[in-house]
Amino acid sequence: MNLHEYQGKELLNSFGVRIQRGIVAQTADEAVEAAKKLTEETGTGWHVIKAQVHAGGRGKGGGVKLAKNLDEVKDLAGQIIGMNLVTPQTSAEGKKVHQVLVAEDVYYPGDNEPEEYYMSVLLNRGSGKNMIMYSTEGGMDIEEVAEKTPHLIFTEEIDPALGLLPFQARRVAFNLGLSGAAFKEMTKFVSSLYTAYVKSDASLFEINPVLKTSDDKIMAVDSKVTLDANALYRHKDLAELRDKREENPIEVEAGELGLNYVDLDGNVGCMVNGAGLAMATMDLIKQAGGEPANFLDVGGTADAARVEAAFKIILKDPNVKAILINIFGGIVRCDRVAQGVIDAYKNMGNINVPIIVRLQGTNADIAKDLIDNSGLDVLSATEFQEAADKVQEVLS
Ligand code: GDP
Ligand code: MN
Repeated sequence: MNLHEYQGKELLNSFGVRIQRGIVAQTADEAVEAAKKLTEETGTGWHVIKAQVHAGGRGKGGGVKLAKNLDEVKDLAGQIIGMNLVTPQTSAEGKKVHQVLVAEDVYYPGDNEPEEYYMSVLLNRGSGKNMIMYSTEGGMDIEEVAEKTPHLIFTEEIDPALGLLPFQARRVAFNLGLSGAAFKEMTKFVSSLYTAYVKSDASLFEINPVLKTSDDKIMAVDSKVTLDANALYRHKDLAELRDKREENPIEVEAGELGLNYVDLDGNVGCMVNGAGLAMATMDLIKQAGGEPANFLDVGGTADAARVEAAFKIILKDPNVKAILINIFGGIVRCDRVAQGVIDAYKNMGNINVPIIVRLQGTNADIAKDLIDNSGLDVLSATEFQEAADKVQEVLS
């Protein structure tokens, strides 16, 4: 589950990570109130207005703007709220902006130039350890840094049994070329960041940029936080931060129906029981020259109600030109699934794409007879390959 920048920053701050302070606003008037309040707290009259959407590269897309007075706050917030923000990480249509973060301007002039760094915490699956990845090249795409100047990216691996050790935090600060007060601040920043990552069961924290202000403070200016959805049951407060508006609406609906559904780009809808069989089915569709439109695991109980719910979800995707149902009857009997398919088909009445059904396992032969004699436009198959070939036939 992804968090908005402002939510991620609040989470970081609750673990003692210094952040660029801000207040979220839903309207231009709220943005002005937020700016006034921030000025009282921080003394700054300049603010950045930042679109809150689940996508990076907002700056490049015009979703991050500097306002030098309250009129500009109102104008810019008014422009950004409601816009469809297109960034290198969104689709061409962009993402609708529902709210902005009004944040204090932290790039103020002073003894030193402000400097931007990159820092992320993530799991290195290869070594089975958490890892802090960081770079002197902040504020730009880390992918670009990795390609052009890979020697400027450092990593610090953390033994999960020992946690982040003080010398490791010092090594990060050292490699970033810091000294004096900024060095000390950075060691505290790194250790608080790591604690926040572990304690919130996150799978990614990405802070780009981490800023060294002109007066040597180290703070998070941006935050991208991904939490492990499987651990949310022990973080009720964090689970509430979910913003469904940022997610694929069909996936949200499928989730509410208890279906395991992931939207994909192809045109063959898949209805399968079991994640492993679902993956194998997608592979087979590809091998036969097609492209799966989705991953869908209907789970163990493929009764008529579930099959109907799954049909409805699959048919919401306008790209679907055929549906392959591939069910293995181990616990569930194939004839019951077949009856479920037939009932759902009749109930829905308006399915106008060809359907190929492969049922294997308990009572598979009875199931095939049921389908073949149903009088419906449903093709049955017994072999896996045969099913995939039939899909290709109906599409060509
Ligand atoms: P992203 O483009 O989605 O990664 O959004 P960021 O939060 O990283 O902001 C983009 C850029 O806006 C940063 O790299 C900064 O250069 C700039 N920015 C962010 N906060 C401030 C600020 O307080 N003052 C000024 N002048 N620029 C800022
Ligand atoms: Mn950023």
